[in-house]
Amino acid sequence: MNIKFQNELGAELAALKAAGTLKTFHSIQSPQGPVVRMDGHDEVLVLSSNNYLGLSDNPKVVEAGIQALKTYGAGTGSVRFICGTFDIHRALEKDIASWVGCESALSYVSCWAANEGLIPTISGEGTVILSDELNHASIIDACRLAGKTTKRMVYKHADLADLRTKLRENKDAKRLIVITDGVFSMEGDIAPLADLVKLCEEEDAILIVDDSHGTGVLGKTGRGVAEHFEVLGKVDIITSTLGKALGGAAGGFVAGPRQLIDYLEQKSRTQLFSNALPATVAGSAHEALLQLKAHPELVSTLQENSRWFRGRLKESGFDPLDGESAIIPVILGDTARAIRFSNELLKKGIFVTGFGFPVVPEGKARIRIQISAAHTRDQLERVLAALVEVKASGV
Ligand code: PLP
Repeated sequence: MNIKFQNELGAELAALKAAGTLKTFHSIQSPQGPVVRMDGHDEVLVLSSNNYLGLSDNPKVVEAGIQALKTYGAGTGSVRFICGTFDIHRALEKDIASWVGCESALSYVSCWAANEGLIPTISGEGTVILSDELNHASIIDACRLAGKTTKRMVYKHADLADLRTKLRENKDAKRLIVITDGVFSMEGDIAPLADLVKLCEEEDAILIVDDSHGTGVLGKTGRGVAEHFEVLGKVDIITSTLGKALGGAAGGFVAGPRQLIDYLEQKSRTQLFSNALPATVAGSAHEALLQLKAHPELVSTLQENSRWFRGRLKESGFDPLDGESAIIPVILGDTARAIRFSNELLKKGIFVTGFGFPVVPEGKARIRIQISAAHTRDQLERVLAALVEVKASGV
């Protein structure tokens, strides 16, 4: 046992606690939903979950998981090329691909694994990657994994002029890749996708969009940011998660041209050296997709709830960041304040997470409110009342 090592970690944790920035892990005893049972708080209203469509505990989604567990068993046995690919993976991938307007798709155990399985695999000598400065951590890490032979550049957030300049500076590269979040997870704003598609076409760059917070949320029928901007079928590569609007269990995917998916099946390290998505999760995600297709009113309810809540927040004296997604951040300043604010809300039975440095820049700590189609207007009014009270208490 290395005591020195343990003491070093302990000292860092104690420093986080002293600074008021230590994260708390709340234990819940019920399915994710608009209301959960939480240790020490009885029933709590949840405004910090990615369960955007309320599908996490949808009986059909749960039942599909149980049926897949019974049909295919608990284990995948190994990676897909070694011991076989279940039908349910293929069915899921086929439906995902057509849903997001791509030729083909490949599932992964998470979107994190999808990004890490994609970006380094299509990069290397002569490749230049241009990444939005506010992209998700999984994209940042995946770009780093692309290694020293890949030139990595960051463009200013959603800034097409800056991106164009950088693309032109690198026009002789063997391969130009632009990568952006569809919805930026900490800001809730949406990438200017129609303009990005046009620019990438003009500059002969490959466009990758991680639509984790857009899938099931944006567009008339929830097909995501490409549907929102009416550019379905025009984005080269889409990655996304199955762990948010699509049931919220786990899983992710890469969707794109057939040749890309064939290539990833041969070369993608998180595909070749890691087990497949558990069949039960694939079954639930597949049913969640069917539910989404059958119930477009889930998407319109989510969009109406989000619009309504933003408006009421402003009427109540708050200044949320602008946007059209289901992520509504309210900037509070320093990290400790955001965490205190969140703790006070929890005492009132409202679960909204506070985010601080290093997840967001110093001084821009925030609470991030996430809306679901499953929230009722009464529940959202309760949240507003609690927000007003906590603000008035001077936290
Ligand atoms: N990409 C983005 C933009 C995200 O917001 C997230 C989750 O927060 C992920 C990837 C990771 O998704 P997963 O939980 O499926 O790994």
